[in-house]
Amino acid sequence: MFKNKKNYDSKFKTKTVLEVSKEENIKIPLSNNESTFAGLNLAQPLMRAIADAGYSTPTPVQAQAIPLVLAGGDLLAGAQTGTGKTAAFMLPILHRLAEKSAANSRSGRPRCLILAPTRELAAQIEESAQTYGKYLPLKSVAVFGGVNIYPQIKALRGHVEILVATPGRLLDHVGQKTLDLSGVEILVLDEADRMLDMGFIRDIKKIIALLPKQHQSLLFSATLSDEIKALAGGLLHNPAFIEAARSNTLSELVEHSVHLVPQRLKSHLLSHLIKHHDWKQVLVFTRTKHGANRLTEKLVADGIPSAAIHSNKSQPARTKALAQFKDGSLFVLVATDIAARGLDIDQLPHVVNFELPNAPKDYVHRIGRTGRAGSSGVAISLVDKEEFRYLKDIERLIKRGIPKIAFDSFVPPANLSAEAPRPPHSQRGQKRTNAPRTAGAGNRSRRQSDGHGQKPRSPKQRDHKRVAAGGLPNRARRKNSLP
Ligand code: AMP
Repeated sequence: MFKNKKNYDSKFKTKTVLEVSKEENIKIPLSNNESTFAGLNLAQPLMRAIADAGYSTPTPVQAQAIPLVLAGGDLLAGAQTGTGKTAAFMLPILHRLAEKSAANSRSGRPRCLILAPTRELAAQIEESAQTYGKYLPLKSVAVFGGVNIYPQIKALRGHVEILVATPGRLLDHVGQKTLDLSGVEILVLDEADRMLDMGFIRDIKKIIALLPKQHQSLLFSATLSDEIKALAGGLLHNPAFIEAARSNTLSELVEHSVHLVPQRLKSHLLSHLIKHHDWKQVLVFTRTKHGANRLTEKLVADGIPSAAIHSNKSQPARTKALAQFKDGSLFVLVATDIAARGLDIDQLPHVVNFELPNAPKDYVHRIGRTGRAGSSGVAISLVDKEEFRYLKDIERLIKRGIPKIAFDSFVPPANLSAEAPRPPHSQRGQKRTNAPRTAGAGNRSRRQSDGHGQKPRSPKQRDHKRVAAGGLPNRARRKNSLP
């Protein structure tokens, strides 16, 4: 929920509502005069839940999507996290499900299926179903990997209206015949771009083939690439199109800055910044899981309560770290890119890029964690000279320079010899492979996790690079080389 209401409207600026007519292939602007929840004609139990959540006005994506979803049509929405997109589909879905009772209602046969790329996002969407549906008798369940399947099987034996799932675990349930998708009336693909990035396309197609022919489909994506449009073309029928915020735009409420600092001093500087500014809630991004662990150890040794969140951590450990970060008992959450995707933390004030991402659009995703729903935020990047080229790429993408700030009060520790400098980035120019992953057991840990799927170098090449950069030619490092 946003507190900084005066800034709220300026945050959600760019919006267009267009309806794509198949016959004439033209885009028709739709009216957009619903600026209050009362004007959206949602059922009373939903209005009560909205009031309980403290929302006074719908966000632009909500104002536009809710009437379209209520009308029963398909929708393609360009909306990033932080725009209020979850309520934009959840509220009208709850309304529609409550409106008419299901024909052939049976246990293990959901009426609405929501697919999400990560476990955290799936869990958060299901929480939203509970929050907004608290005065309605509709049952929601989340199923995702990394946790015991049996409690999920038990939950699916009961009545389920809304099922939120990651694709791999969903197919596991289908395979075990603990789930029947033939009653799905509404399908949502949330963060569809990230699902494609993570190689879920084949799983998604398999799942869609299991749905009844007649159903409403809603596709939400932060970016609207050609790949997404192709997916939408095959999936959606005569869809309305809305765009809440252009991709690669950044909240104007976030203050960006860069500290130019050698890699070996970064952890010391970060500790200093946290203590000096008395920061109590900081999300830090590292490129690798190993880097996230190492940094967390250093921060904890410096007396700063911190935890790492990445795909090598068990799901209960990830859930616990996130809960502690939200309730304030952890000051720092150190995350890799995809593990952090979908984290919804209200009013997150500080985001730190411990290393810059290779892909400039990931900078936008990372910074989207702060300055959300009208609140202000601070985004700091610690940049070694090896990373200048990434900084240039990012500045080009966001079409602005990021101020370089000196840090006067920081005195580097005298003895740094024990810490070897990190090797230069080895992933530049390597694309994520979109190789399809299937529901086979061999793929499970990566499919359920947040692996990037980069093309590995040969072990020999990697060791040469490391040694040349003063690093260690060590096999154990290889284990941790992916985020
Ligand atoms: P989302 O884009 O769905 O991840 O939502 C981002 C945040 O906005 C969540 O913390 C929601 O609780 C909050 N939010 C959603 N809708 C509204 C609204 N109409 N007014 C204020 N906050 C909202």
